[in-house]
Amino acid sequence: MNIPTTCPRCQHAFQTEYLDSGIHELTCPACQGRFALFIRKHRFETLFDLGTRALLDGYAREAVVNFAAALERCLEFYLRSALLERFAAQGHTLEDAAGELEATWKLLVSQSERQLGAFAAVYLAREGRAPDFLTPQGLGAEFRNRVIHRGYLPREQEVQDYAAGLFALMNRLLGDLGDAALQATLTQEREYAAALARLDEGVPAVFEEHPGMFRTPRIVSDGSESDGSESEQDTPWPAPVTVSHQLPAPALPNTRPLNDAAAFQTALRERGTLVSELFRGKAGR
Ligand SMILES: [Zn+2]
Repeated sequence: MNIPTTCPRCQHAFQTEYLDSGIHELTCPACQGRFALFIRKHRFETLFDLGTRALLDGYAREAVVNFAAALERCLEFYLRSALLERFAAQGHTLEDAAGELEATWKLLVSQSERQLGAFAAVYLAREGRAPDFLTPQGLGAEFRNRVIHRGYLPREQEVQDYAAGLFALMNRLLGDLGDAALQATLTQEREYAAALARLDEGVPAVFEEHPGMFRTPRIVSDGSESDGSESEQDTPWPAPVTVSHQLPAPALPNTRPLNDAAAFQTALRERGTLVSELFRGKAGR
């Protein structure tokens, strides 16, 4: 899928393919100048946003695949954040903690049942209560399996209901995590810092933070945070930050939990079109 970007040298706007790593080493088609583009978004966010786009475009079945993957990656995000938080409290360095975490994750990565088990134990240990939402009903597992494994063609309303349930659950997990979500964010920043350090001298880096269903535009022109009201903003998301070889501060916190049942519909109304247009490469600044 393509996303819009702008050359920091000549301001030429063009589209580029979104890469899984979030790190893009690009050559401007207009001025041939090189630059690096870093997108700050977590995988569960990207997957949920892709599901939203598919749903809005009328691809209900395809949306389910993305929503289901987003939930799995959100559980992983929780697990990683919670464990890194614990390591930090025990005085371990982020490098050591991340290394041990990767070694452990390797044992779980190819089996989603193992991941669910690990998540349940970590959730119980951190929150002091059972993850009572981890039932097949709570996860919408029957619907998901019917669509993904048995070729069921769902109606749009069914997918809306499924997405709303997952959205509420994911928001709840992010709310439970609170500041601990910064832990997983830091590991992404660490990877970006390493990539930044590998860049050739003089190659500028651009950091972008796009809106998403879990990410509200951070800054409006008067410096106050958007309150999500009807008012249209001229700038739908923060302007990209261009740097040479120093990591700019990430936008934090990047989540605002919405725990009511209508949260999905609210986010869809406020940001659905933006998200959809972003992946079409249409959104501009
Ligand atoms: Zn250029």
